[in-house]
Amino acid sequence: HISSKPPPTPSPLRSAKFFQANMRILVTGGAGFIGSHLVDKLMQNEKNEVIVADNYFTGSKDNLKKWIGHPRFELIRHDVTEPLLIEVDQIYHLACPASPIFYKYNPVKTIKTNVIGTLNMLGLAKRVGARILLTSTSEVYGDPLIHPQDESYWGNVNPIGVRSCYDEGKRVAETLMFDYHRQHGIEIRIARIFNTYGPRMNIDDGRVVSNFIAQAIRSEPLTVQAPGTQTRSFCYVSDMVDGLIRLMEGDNTGPINIGNPGEFTMLELAETVKELINPAVEIIMVENTPDDPRQRKPDITKAKELLGWEPKIKLRDGLPLMEDDFRTRLEVPRKI
Ligand code: NAD
Ligand code: UDP
Ligand code: UDP
Repeated sequence: HISSKPPPTPSPLRSAKFFQANMRILVTGGAGFIGSHLVDKLMQNEKNEVIVADNYFTGSKDNLKKWIGHPRFELIRHDVTEPLLIEVDQIYHLACPASPIFYKYNPVKTIKTNVIGTLNMLGLAKRVGARILLTSTSEVYGDPLIHPQDESYWGNVNPIGVRSCYDEGKRVAETLMFDYHRQHGIEIRIARIFNTYGPRMNIDDGRVVSNFIAQAIRSEPLTVQAPGTQTRSFCYVSDMVDGLIRLMEGDNTGPINIGNPGEFTMLELAETVKELINPAVEIIMVENTPDDPRQRKPDITKAKELLGWEPKIKLRDGLPLMEDDFRTRLEVPRKI
């Protein structure tokens, strides 16, 4: 029997639009350095719809210009210290100034961003049943008394210092994440990010890699802050983004260190930048800022075992990858 009646009009709730398998992903702080690289990677997957919420304090629309107008992309000017009512499946919560110059500029705002901002994103995750990843920081270890730092170390942090708005702020953010997890069953992921570098770092944010590269390109002396023997471990941004996505997609809450264990003194870093970018440049010693951690290097055993992740790009290979981006923004072309 063949019916002559036309097929029933599908209910709007059954149309493809409502049954899409797309993953709706919120990236707070997505206009910033790491956030915009994360957005680039997430947008490569055609099943992802990416929503960025950012107040442009340290980020910029420029970092996302290739996605503005794309049908799977949306950009919202929003401050995470205010509630946000949207529907999403995953939240990468990055919003927070990361460089000391910017987070010390308005410390009260920084701690509000860490505490109220994270509370709001957890409230959102709870309401819509989304999984949420927090980008915490190696600064939760403070000026560490064990070396290298693994995730079981509770840290050595000054609660009343000029960095506290950031490092204590992130510690409270981690506490909130675990309390929402235990009390409300929210799916959480915590990454403890170690120093990260790459194209789109803010040029004048005072961080050591961006400072040295900009100084080398401008033929200004490289300013090593005394004593110069303090160490850091630098992770190239594409490795970082891979680590964050693996953590989000995996089964472990963390906290998990994501960073590159290659450890350098600031004097060694200056020598390397000089050699690779401008051998004619001078290296000078300048005064340091208070509470500067003397050494920092991630133990990434957990990331290797639980995420199958380790960084691929060595410092010597990563630094030259920043040069073109910095030269374009500084308007100093390469000499031929
Ligand atoms: P960034 O400053 O480039 O990006 C932060 C972004 O958050 C910016 O776009 C900024 O405008 C936005 N933002 C700040 N406050 C906000 C608010 N109240 N509401 C909405 N948006 C806000 O920094 P980044 O280096 O890309 O860092 C991203 C995340 O990674 C941060 O959470 C930071 O703490 C963490 N992290 C970074 C490093 C690093 O080496 N870059 C190290 C450890 C942790
Ligand atoms: N919140 C938000 N978006 C939502 C749901 C909640 O920004 O979709 C905010 C809400 O304004 C509150 C915070 O998240 O300040 C914590 O929410 P929760 O429901 O956990 O706590 P309550 O509102 O009961 O204090
Ligand atoms: N530093 C430096 N010269 C600079 C800027 C920073 O020697 O022009 C040093 C600083 O004293 C610190 C290290 O580099 O020991 C890393 O500083 P940054 O602000 O980049 O990151 P963080 O202290 O947050 O790890």
